[in-house]
Amino acid sequence: MSAKDAPPPLPEPLLVEVADSHTHMDLQSGTVEEALIKAAAVGVTTVVQVGCDVKGSQWAAETAAAHENVHAAVALHPNEAPRIVLGDPDGRSRQGARRGGGDAALDDALNEIDRLAALPHVRGVGETGLDFFRTGPEGVAAQERSFRAHIEIAKRHGKALVIHDREAHADVLRVLDEEGAPERTVFHCYSGDAEMAGICAAKGYYMSFAGNVTFKNAQPLRDALAVAPLELVLVETDAPFLTPAPFRGRPNAPYLIPVTVRAMAEVRGMGENELAGAIAANTARAFDY
Ligand SMILES: [Zn+2]
Ligand SMILES: [Zn+2]
Repeated sequence: MSAKDAPPPLPEPLLVEVADSHTHMDLQSGTVEEALIKAAAVGVTTVVQVGCDVKGSQWAAETAAAHENVHAAVALHPNEAPRIVLGDPDGRSRQGARRGGGDAALDDALNEIDRLAALPHVRGVGETGLDFFRTGPEGVAAQERSFRAHIEIAKRHGKALVIHDREAHADVLRVLDEEGAPERTVFHCYSGDAEMAGICAAKGYYMSFAGNVTFKNAQPLRDALAVAPLELVLVETDAPFLTPAPFRGRPNAPYLIPVTVRAMAEVRGMGENELAGAIAANTARAFDY
C-alpha cells in the first residue's frame, strides 16, 4: 500500500460526540465493527448507513438492526433508477439491447424500498433525488419518477428524506415543491451556493456538509455554510468518497468527521464543541432517533 492509498491517521477526538449523517460502510474496507470502534474513539458515536440499491438498502437495514448506534436510510440512488429501467449502458449486447427491466422492474424495486422503509431501524428514505452529472437525458424520466416515489414513501412512513442533488438544484427544488416535501428533508453532500442555502433555510431543509467543504475550490460551499441557520447544519463523510483536506484522494471513513467539523467551525467562526453540540442535536432531530 503506497502512502497515497493508506488510511489517514486518527484525528484528535472531538470532546462533544457527533453523528456521521451519511456514510456507505459497505463500500469501505474493514468490518462494520472496526469502522464503528475507530469512529467512536474520536467522538463519532452514531452513523447513518445509506443504501443505494435494493441489496445495499437491505444490508443497511440489517446493519442498523444489529448495531444500536447505526441508523439506516434506504433507497434507489438517482443513478440506479435509470439503470433498472434501461439497463446498464456497459452491459449492451452486440445487438445494442441494454437488458433493462423497464418500468415494472422499477416498481418491484420501489416496493422493496417501501417494505424496508417501514422497519423501525430505518430512519430515512434516500439517497434519492436527481443527478444530471452521471445520468444522461435518456434516464431523466426514470430518475424523476423514482424520486417522486421516494418522496411519497418517506411521507407515508414518516421518515426523513435524504436528497442526492448533483447539478440539478432547480429541478430537485421544483419536484419537492410539486410533491410537497416531507417534514424532515436533508440535502446530503450539500452542493448549493449561499443563495440556495437561503431557499433551503426558508423551507426548513437540513444541509449536510461533506469533506468537500474543505477543498480549495469550494469557496461557494463555505459561503453557503456561513449563512445556513445553525439548527439546519449536519456533517457527513459520504465515505469512502470526498475525503477532507489534507487527506483528499485517500480512503474516507466515519472516523474522519472531526477533520470536517473543525474546518466547518472555522468557517462559522465558532468553537468546535459548540458546533458539534448543535450538529448532534440536529442529526437526532432530522432522523428522529
Ligand atoms: Zn449522494
Ligand atoms: Zn452517498
